[in-house]
Formats: sequence, C-alpha cells, structure tokens
Amino acid sequence: MPVGTQATVKALTPGDLSAAGAQMILGNTYHLNLRPTAERIARLGGLHRFMAWDGPILTDSGGFQVFSLADLRRVDDDGVTFTSHLDGSTHRLTPERAMEVQALLGSDIAMAFDQLVDPGRPRSEIADAMERTHRWAERSLAARGRSGQAVFGIIQGGVDPRLRRASAAAIAALPFDGIAIGGLSVGESKAEMAATLEIVAEALSDDPRPRYLMGVGSPVDFFTAVALGVDLFDCVLPTRVARTGQVWTAAGRLNLRNAAFQDDPGPIDPACACEACRNHSRAYLAHLFRSRELLAYRLATVHNVTWTLELMRRLRSSLLDGSFADLHEAIVEAFRRDPGPAEDAPYDSV
Ligand SMILES: [Zn+2]
Repeated sequence: MPVGTQATVKALTPGDLSAAGAQMILGNTYHLNLRPTAERIARLGGLHRFMAWDGPILTDSGGFQVFSLADLRRVDDDGVTFTSHLDGSTHRLTPERAMEVQALLGSDIAMAFDQLVDPGRPRSEIADAMERTHRWAERSLAARGRSGQAVFGIIQGGVDPRLRRASAAAIAALPFDGIAIGGLSVGESKAEMAATLEIVAEALSDDPRPRYLMGVGSPVDFFTAVALGVDLFDCVLPTRVARTGQVWTAAGRLNLRNAAFQDDPGPIDPACACEACRNHSRAYLAHLFRSRELLAYRLATVHNVTWTLELMRRLRSSLLDGSFADLHEAIVEAFRRDPGPAEDAPYDSV
C-alpha cells in the first residue's frame, strides 16, 4: 500500500496510482483527524470521495503517530492525551474514538488502537503496553460500527520472544478480519525483525487471515517478511526517497542527483513501463532535480511506486513458479550497493 498520509500520496493523482497498479492505499487517522478533521471529511462524503480514490483504503488507528510524539503525550488505561504537532492544541484518542474517526473517514479496513513502545525500553514497560494493547483490541472490536468496515488487530510485544508469542496468541484469539504485526521497523536490527516475524509466523501457524506488517517497505525486507508469511505492507519509503532523487531499479538504488546521470540518455530502468521510464531519460530527471523543478517529484514518485508494485507482482508469481529464492538473491545483491553521494548542493525534501 502506498501511503497517503494527508489524503494524498505525495505528488501523485489517483490516476497515477491506478496506472502504477496500486490496489489499496493507506490513510493516516492522526493527520486527517487534526486537519481537515474526520467530521469535515465525513460531511464531504468520506475519504474516498474527498480524495477521489475509489479503490480500497486502509486507515491506521493513529496510535503509531501519537506514540511517536514522545514528550507531547500522556498515556492512561483509557487512552492517550496528546498535543497537536500543528498548533499545540490538546487532543485525546481512545480505542472508541479511534474507531469512530475511522468510521467517519469511511475506510475499508480500520486498525485497532494499540500502544507502541520503543523495543529498547525495559521489559516491564513493553509488557504493560502489550497488555494494554490487548485490552484496547477488545474495546476496538466492541466499538466497531455497522458500516461493514473490516477491522485488523495489532500484535505488539517488542522484540522479546515470549511477549511476542503471547501477543500473537491474544490477538489471534479475537474475531478480527486480519492480523497486523506492529512495533517493528522502529530501530531494531534486521536480525531482530526477522526473528520476531519468525515467532509470529509460528504462533499464527495455519491461521487463514491476512497478515499485515506495518511500516515496512524496503525491497529486501519484502522478501524476508513474505518468506515468513506476510501478505500486506505499507511504507512511506518508496515515495519519501523518490523526493530526494533516489530511485529503485533492477540494478539497485540510483541517486539521480549524482553527476554521472547528467549525460545519461537511458531510462531510469529499461524494464519499467511507468510514465517516467517510457518518456524520459535519467539526464532529464537529473536536470529536473538540480533545477528543483516540481515535475522531478512526480516522475520519480511515479517510478518508485510503479517499480515497487511490479516487484510485488514478480514476488507473487515467483512463489507460484518456484523462483522465489533466485529473485530474492538478485534483489539482495542489487540493493547491497550504496547509491553513492549526491554531487550537487543539499536538497530539501518536501
Ligand atoms: Zn519507471
């Protein structure tokens, strides 16, 4: 799922997303509820109509952003009080309010409200947050509206094997429509992430519900996680790095701000069918980035989203025809290489 934090996947129109092959996108409850507010979006016909995207939308519960605010929030058993990063005003999210906001937005999949904790915190703190997440999971389910929204529960427990196992069992025991794995890609090592996914895969065993790894989206991570049973991902990475000039290709990461591309007449990736690769050269993109032209953002983002979704399609077919290991190896090898430093002045990402 490409991430549309503010009711837009940055620099792309819904037509661009369809052309890139996006099947579902993600919207952020925290951001949309502060501005323009869930009530306003509901009055305007819901999030699909507001942003003119008629495909499926998954909304997060706001928990991740609220807990990223660190000094700006206070947690109690009922919910979280926090200060807006926009204007310093005070807000409160509870499991019930998070579900109400997502119902107002009208997303197709709503996420249960959970408490994220830095996996580096003391075990007792991670265990407390996990227990609270389980209680909030039940309250989120009880608060689900009659809108037909699917609701996914979220497994927490840091990188502690026993806590993760307990959390997977507790969440899987509830009648959620899908199971999400939260609290990863927040500073732990790649080995810790893989070990944690392995524990979750084991605990969920043959549970048939879709499994969603939240906030993970680098090409190599897809393979690690899919090998351990994950079906669904979201991540800002492909779109965020695109706006800095980094594009993903079969040859790995390229930095279009690198001087070598100024005379390169070839496409970003000869095998890619996106608008940028069909019509434009690396040299043109390199020029747009150096000139700080707005089209640079759109073309690089169109490419990275198209390329990432095409990689997922290839990954799915590799599972069917038995070439998963070969494709995995090729991607690990390509993405091992550093994209190299930008050789022009520092560029401010928007
Ligand atoms: Zn392309």
